[in-house]
Amino acid sequence: MKLILLGAPGAGKGTIAKLLSEVDGSVQISTGDILRGEVEAGSELGARARGYMQRGELVPDELIMEMMEGRLRRPDCAAGFLLDGFPRTIPQAEALAQLLQKLGIALDMVVNLEAPREVILERLTTRRTCENPDCQAIYNIRSKPPRVEGVCDRCGGAVVQRADESEEAITQRLETYMEKTAPLADYYLKQGLLLRVDATSSEKAVAAVRERLRSLLERSKQ
Ligand code: AMP
Repeated sequence: MKLILLGAPGAGKGTIAKLLSEVDGSVQISTGDILRGEVEAGSELGARARGYMQRGELVPDELIMEMMEGRLRRPDCAAGFLLDGFPRTIPQAEALAQLLQKLGIALDMVVNLEAPREVILERLTTRRTCENPDCQAIYNIRSKPPRVEGVCDRCGGAVVQRADESEEAITQRLETYMEKTAPLADYYLKQGLLLRVDATSSEKAVAAVRERLRSLLERSKQ
């Protein structure tokens, strides 16, 4: 499948992308994960992105597009991809459309994950992430704590609260989302690509996406 996952921070894009990637092996591409990996690795890109990320602001479009062009050209994308956290602005969406055209790739759909603000705030403040850049497993201190407190079940790395998950940074990220990213839903609705999904339950959200994919496949056979 070739999908974009839209939604506020905390709407569950990462969790839902992981579940969907298990369905058919489509690769999850999270710009946030890639950027955090670059910051950890101390690369030039990481150094340029770091300040924006810590403040809960968006990294400039040019940096993101350069990074994503390289990523989407990698051979593992041929089997399908789930874009998690990208595009995040109208200029990124426009640049992505041009890039996909150049690569001869058509999107199946754009999923807008919708959840009430209280659910989002609760998820973000209780979320914990494995610090190991190659793992970045997600936990929740209430609903999905690691077996040993502060230690990743998967790789043994330290499980921490992300620097951009302080109350101040969360407020900033939600504002940035409303201003810059929320308009993308309308952008893709006009292109007939949007599927709106209630993201309060990840399992139900995955089922809704699979159902739409099934009907798209059937329609393409007719
Ligand atoms: P995320 O894990 O998707 O919430 O991303 C964490 C942070 O990385 C964001 O708050 C931004 O600073 C940056 N970021 C991730 N994806 C993008 C993007 N597509 N455009 C600009 N900044 C991004």
